[in-house]
Amino acid sequence: MKNLTFCLLLLSWMGTSAQRKISWPHHKKAVIVLTYDDALNSQLDKAIPQLDVHHFKGTFFLTGELNSITIPKWRAAAKNGHELANHTLFHPCLSATMPDNPANAAERYSIYQIIREIYTMNNFLYALDGKGGRTYAYPCTETEVGGKSYVDSLRKSGLIKYARVGGDVEAVVTDFKKLDPLRVPSYGLDENTSAVKLIAFAKRVEKSGGMGIFMFHGIGGDYITTSTEAHKELLNYLAKNRKDLWVATFQQAMDYITRANKGK
Ligand SMILES: [Zn+2]
Repeated sequence: MKNLTFCLLLLSWMGTSAQRKISWPHHKKAVIVLTYDDALNSQLDKAIPQLDVHHFKGTFFLTGELNSITIPKWRAAAKNGHELANHTLFHPCLSATMPDNPANAAERYSIYQIIREIYTMNNFLYALDGKGGRTYAYPCTETEVGGKSYVDSLRKSGLIKYARVGGDVEAVVTDFKKLDPLRVPSYGLDENTSAVKLIAFAKRVEKSGGMGIFMFHGIGGDYITTSTEAHKELLNYLAKNRKDLWVATFQQAMDYITRANKGK
């Protein structure tokens, strides 16, 4: 009888811990999200064609750095299933982080200004792709302007469903109950990160059963550049392991997690 009680206790404990883990679609083991910041030309010219080879969809955090040549290209990318997301209009950062953008120094911004900028960029994105339910990435991964956090103001504004912050290779999400949808960590890549390192992160995510978000900038050009070869090797690895790894956009992955957290 004692043994039976113990077994029942053990089973109920296993049940509770199992609920914390997410069952990914189609019995996949983990989810990988590929994100690209700053509306860079090399993303249009190099990253998107490479993603399209494997029918993978990326998330592109755009700023207002768009023009008559790039707008039709981003529009075509959105039509093809890539996610266009919000990264503000003018990319305000602390002067210490980004000295070459003094007109948009984050230390001189008010919370009202940044929220208004995110609102306007949302409308800009709507004009591009006609979609709602926008996601966001904090410029320079800074969650403050004028020395104050704007995370809760952004939450209250209802403009943004999910927002990405920074992090390093340790930024693998496994505790989804505790995950703040407006502070989702990611792996911000250094200049010229090797394919070996990129794949090692994907393997780490797979082992964890969680979610791993890559934060790319330039691909084979622009800045904080990942080479086209390294990017291609990572995509080849993800394609080879399609059975176990779900490659989703930021919004798709977070929508899935939100539903799973609600038990739906
Ligand atoms: Zn940026």
